[in-house]
Amino acid sequence: MTPIDAKRPLQLNDQGQLRHFLSLDGLPRELLTEILDTADSFLEVGARAVKKVPLLRGKTVCNVFFENSTRTRTTFELAAQRLSADVITLNVSTSSTSKGETLFDTLRNLEAMAADMFVVRHADSGAAHFIAEHVCPEVAIINGGDGRHAHPTQGMLDMLTIRRHKGGFENLSVAIVGDILHSRVARSNMIALKALGCPDIRVVAPKTLLPVGVEQYGVKVYTDLAQGLKDVDVVIMLRLQRERMAGGLLPSEGEFYRLFGLTTARLAGAKPDCIVMHPGPINRGVEIESAVADGAQSVILNQVTYGIAVRMAVLSMAMSGQNAQRQFEQENAQSPSVSLALASSTRPPAWTRLPICTSAKASSCPWAPRPQASPPARPWKPTA
Ligand code: ASP
Ligand code: ASP
Repeated sequence: MTPIDAKRPLQLNDQGQLRHFLSLDGLPRELLTEILDTADSFLEVGARAVKKVPLLRGKTVCNVFFENSTRTRTTFELAAQRLSADVITLNVSTSSTSKGETLFDTLRNLEAMAADMFVVRHADSGAAHFIAEHVCPEVAIINGGDGRHAHPTQGMLDMLTIRRHKGGFENLSVAIVGDILHSRVARSNMIALKALGCPDIRVVAPKTLLPVGVEQYGVKVYTDLAQGLKDVDVVIMLRLQRERMAGGLLPSEGEFYRLFGLTTARLAGAKPDCIVMHPGPINRGVEIESAVADGAQSVILNQVTYGIAVRMAVLSMAMSGQNAQRQFEQENAQSPSVSLALASSTRPPAWTRLPICTSAKASSCPWAPRPQASPPARPWKPTA
């Protein structure tokens, strides 16, 4: 495992703004803080009688879930609706891919529906990057969780939860406990906490559930829960990701609970005002005791509420980054030197850039529509 994400620049536009949201790796602290500040302002929208703002009016957000989800899917739907977008949700795990369609073909069909953003969840690590690399340039891709790699909106909603309950990150001790090895949430949280300046990040797990080289994330490793929890301000519990375990990593769930389950007695070793978090779904009696999950220190349901605001922030920021990029390209296309370059043989005839690919880079897009006998019906606004 390496904390280096070579694809990082893909998610930023030429001005350094978000245009996709694929992973937190490499994102500057200022950008993460901007996401949190924007989400804070959207929390107020969620408290209004009319919970809508017009930021994505006229845009279509398509949730494409190749892997099951409840919270992430529904909170992305609500977030897009509260931004006034049209929203479609496709549960691909129960549709065409199970009939043998490739990821490319599924996405090509979705592109043809002219969505402006795809929120993608996939069981394979790297799927969101792959899609962002191959989708036509003006479609924004938001990662809703890819394999064991990243769950960046979960990471940011966890950061918003911590900031709202603890005021900041500078003096905190945070313990992430449980199945670190298979958890995309753990990865996103370690990266975000580090970037936001948290000085004491701990991971607590049995040796078999710790990735090799996890220290590279700037974390301290504990294999004893009592030591790992000592005087922490925040504890983030993780579910055992049974669906990603090859087997044999744990003697039994009972044994795991005995050694690593968060009980009231164990929580007493943390600071008295320590908050308890969990991305859900929680498994009571496996990683967390009911009395703790439902107790006064638990902020697990607050996380769900904050998740809507964070997803609103990410959707609106990525859309605005895409718009800014388009404008930038249009302005450059109007300058004589660039126009000359575009007029050369590399640029396809205007109508071949439809219905999806409208940028100057369209000729390199594998999904650019093939030449057709007549122009497609969707109106096209010239870019130059
Ligand atoms: N919080 C997770 C998610 O929705 C768990 C779930 O699927 O219910 O991503
Ligand atoms: N809901 C989180 C995820 O999708 C955590 C979990 O499933 O345990 O990764």
